Amino acid sequence: MTISRNPTRAVDIGSVTLGATHPIVVQSMCATHTQDIEATVAQVDALARAGAGIVRIAVDNRQDADALAEIRRRTAVTLSVDLQENYRIAPLVAPHVDKIRYNPGHLYHHERNKPWRDKVRFLVDVAGDHGCAIRVGVNSGSVDPAKLEKHSRRDAVSPMVESVLDHCELLDALDFMRYCVSLKDSDPTTVIDANRRFAVERPEIPLHLGVTEAGMPPDGVIKTRIAFEQLLGHGIGDTIRVSLTLPNPRKTEEVAVGRQILADIEAGRLRSVVRFNNDRLNIISCPSCSRVENEAFVDLAVQVKELTRYAEQHAVTIAVMGCRVNGPGETDDADLGLWCGPNFVNLKRGGEKLGAFRYDEILPRLKLELDQLVAAQPE
Ligand code: SF4
Repeated sequence: MTISRNPTRAVDIGSVTLGATHPIVVQSMCATHTQDIEATVAQVDALARAGAGIVRIAVDNRQDADALAEIRRRTAVTLSVDLQENYRIAPLVAPHVDKIRYNPGHLYHHERNKPWRDKVRFLVDVAGDHGCAIRVGVNSGSVDPAKLEKHSRRDAVSPMVESVLDHCELLDALDFMRYCVSLKDSDPTTVIDANRRFAVERPEIPLHLGVTEAGMPPDGVIKTRIAFEQLLGHGIGDTIRVSLTLPNPRKTEEVAVGRQILADIEAGRLRSVVRFNNDRLNIISCPSCSRVENEAFVDLAVQVKELTRYAEQHAVTIAVMGCRVNGPGETDDADLGLWCGPNFVNLKRGGEKLGAFRYDEILPRLKLELDQLVAAQPE
């Protein structure tokens, strides 16, 4: 069976075309340090060999941008770049990539007096000059602050959808049509709701699907599969990225899992009949990227999962993130949040920061906090 799809418009990204009747593209992201050119080129090529049509690389500074220029020279794979906080770096990276991803939420963090519309205009000019596509990539952890204020804290979907619709409206007004959109969260239910709502409003815009910080296999695969089945099964989605917490040598598994899910949906082998169930322990962990601040991160995520198994029947969400760039924001909705620094792991309970702990101190402290949360829950 072929998946029947929303009639999105075609968007060219390097040698790949997203949307319309083009096949759904599986993509992935490098987790190597961008300035480690050998390792990054090797991972770009390995991901492409595994079936990734587009590979994303994170760039934070001028040194990363210089490395990107060399990476571009050494591989022909279609490349995308993640601007994260630093939209001003776009002119340095655009000559070397085929797509620029910006996160609307991050445009509010710097140059607060400069209107976000001016920043988007700047990105559109840069992308236009270099023949790049754009992805407006919103995460529930980072959206327009005004949209967050407008809605209840329990409503993660409305701020994301409204933020992204504003950006689409502006891109349209600027006559820039070469763009796609993503609306991601670590909860597949939120991903399903947000993408369905967006697709009703703007069915012609290609969608990049993903459950961010899905965690480790097998749980991360299950969360992702549920979201993709519920969306692709209804014709929503033109490209997918599976985000799993995996060590670098196993990173290609993200692509293999994505291809398997697509093949299963096409063959009608669907596994999700119910919405994702959040009444038990839920471990969220980021897929890691070049920003990971200590290589012990993946082991830490695995150890957190093992250590907390005893609380499986309790509705507690624990988030484990690899860096201080996204860690503080992306752990906001967790009951317990950990994010890595070079020598310490930061810990918070709800919104309260508990401190920074050495890598050999963090697990006992986490257990103490989890014990207290479990004890406070009704039997
Ligand atoms: S939390 Fe940090 S290390 Fe993890 S994927 Fe996001 S940016 Fe990369």
